[in-house]
Amino acid sequence: MTSIMYHHVNSDRCSNELKVFEEHLKYISQNYTSLFPGEEVTSKSICLTFDDAYADFYYFIFPLLLKYDLKALLAVPTKYILDDTSYTQDVRLDFEHNDLFKNYEKATFCTFKELREMVDSGLVQIGSHSHSHVNLLEEGVDLEEELVVSKNILEEKLGIKVESFVFPFGKYNEGIAKEAHKHYQYLFRIGNAIHKDFSGIKGVIYRVNGDNLTQVDEPFSFKNRMKYRFKAFIKRF
Ligand SMILES: [Zn+2]
Repeated sequence: MTSIMYHHVNSDRCSNELKVFEEHLKYISQNYTSLFPGEEVTSKSICLTFDDAYADFYYFIFPLLLKYDLKALLAVPTKYILDDTSYTQDVRLDFEHNDLFKNYEKATFCTFKELREMVDSGLVQIGSHSHSHVNLLEEGVDLEEELVVSKNILEEKLGIKVESFVFPFGKYNEGIAKEAHKHYQYLFRIGNAIHKDFSGIKGVIYRVNGDNLTQVDEPFSFKNRMKYRFKAFIKRF
């Protein structure tokens, strides 16, 4: 099972050009079956994950998931999510990647109203990406707040159960993973490895980088598959 990590389309960083990204999703829909965490895995399983829930996910990526009937996990940092907004699409999308967090009051992230609509489609599952999107290894971080407050907000506002947590910046240690596992069944990080199932490597699921694709089938090339297998093998020790 390959889990892939994406962020944006048509942005200046951590992104893919929309046209390339659509071809990539089309390729996946023709060759793989997309799963939510915990669903039954086969050799053709894939778990698509999107970090941060930037507004472009709602405007550009969600319509493609509908078009190609693909499931995806969306990792949401709850502090930056507004209930609803009257800002237009143009205003919301007119920011560089590095300015999105500080402008969250202009609805640079998906709103709860949009998250609800996407959840209702059956193709988007919501995971927590902490509350404030901080590096959990930093001193002074309130781990309980980052892990639990975010989950409670999502579950209450969306009427769902949240079972996945995506570490902000992929940062954690063994103690943090253990604490996170008390609240979430599935933990995700960055890391270019592949898996037999959703149990992960030492309890954490590694995700292949899907941003800045140079070819539509890049994560599936023979060379990359070998690399991801090798990484999964050595990381077990
Ligand atoms: Zn993030």
